[in-house]
Amino acid sequence: MKLAKRVSTLSPSTTLEITAKAKDLKDAGHDVIGLGAGEPDFNTPAHILEAAKDAMEKGFTKYTPSGGLPALKKEIINKLQHDQRITYLPSEIIVCIGAKHALYTLFQVILDKGDEVIIPTPYWVSYPEQVKLAEGVPVYVEGKEENQFKITVEQLKQSITPKTKALVINSPSNPTGMIYTKEELLELGKVCLENDILIVSDEIYEKLLYDGNKHFSIAELSPELKEQTIIINGVSKSHSMTGWRIGYAAGNQMIISAMTNLASHSTSNPTSISQYATIAAYQGPQDEVEMMRKAFESRLNIIFEKLNKIPGFHCLKPQGAFYLFPKAIDAAKMAGFNDVDSFVKALLEEEKVALVPGSGFGANDYVRLSYATSLDLLEKAVERIANYMAKVA
Ligand code: PLP
Repeated sequence: MKLAKRVSTLSPSTTLEITAKAKDLKDAGHDVIGLGAGEPDFNTPAHILEAAKDAMEKGFTKYTPSGGLPALKKEIINKLQHDQRITYLPSEIIVCIGAKHALYTLFQVILDKGDEVIIPTPYWVSYPEQVKLAEGVPVYVEGKEENQFKITVEQLKQSITPKTKALVINSPSNPTGMIYTKEELLELGKVCLENDILIVSDEIYEKLLYDGNKHFSIAELSPELKEQTIIINGVSKSHSMTGWRIGYAAGNQMIISAMTNLASHSTSNPTSISQYATIAAYQGPQDEVEMMRKAFESRLNIIFEKLNKIPGFHCLKPQGAFYLFPKAIDAAKMAGFNDVDSFVKALLEEEKVALVPGSGFGANDYVRLSYATSLDLLEKAVERIANYMAKVA
């Protein structure tokens, strides 16, 4: 049996791969500390769990409209109005099976073979693969460390061709934690409007901001930018609901309608129970969202200092999300390796610390650590890395 060409170049998700490897070692009895996972370590807030139970008991366990329950769309509209000050209609919203599925469906409906999507590096692992699955071509533009891993408007202009269809903006960013300012977004947005480039704005880490940093959605900066942008968001990271699989897309009606049509033939609808749980997530108190943010911030402040003291590691302070993205090639070389991938492998095998190599994010010299785990484990992990460096360097 020969598989379709479509999947022949597909790379497995680096993040999920390392998490699985760490789990195998753990199952085999090793004391592994996994800093690979991209999910909050808190349980989903209790009132959300109650809403799910209630939905099941009331028999809300059947198909829902493909684009999502009207009551959930209403909550998403209220959230966008409240947080971003943008007014959307229900026909401009689709509820999907996580933000990942919203992005996948979006690329399927906007890309024809050969259409280009500008993806700033370092990028979240799934953007390029999703673009390729839609027969599009990822065009990488390097977000340089000296510019906080963000692309400049000049770089954007230089990467535009007649085939450019979309630009991906992920702010706060996975893996760098950096945020585009309002001014930077306005500049990038102006170029996208001039060249009719759709802006895909992945705002999944919107609620996780530190040191008083503010998040702006590019869609809120003008009515024209609202029309030119598809916002992607969801409850996975904000409400610790990764397993519930609820995300959404908001934007142009024609695009949302095509996405809904595609979903009606591929998934029918996101799980009904999860949709009811998400209604409660948006309607209920938001204090646990803030409690989790504060916990991430205090861990970041402790662990950032410690990591930067390890020889060969150099890290910018993230402004949001829950990842540290240090340059680690010097540490790798000090330990006798030519690349960060081999160094990461050695750290897992010898010190039982699982990090994700930057190669999966289009930045080979870097490594990603998630601090969505207890401070105790984080401190132990950093200690193990420091011990390893003390041994080998
Ligand atoms: N976008 C980014 C930047 C992410 O990091 C992730 C998850 O890791 C997602 C989207 C997908 O989130 P969801 O769980 O809602 O599919």
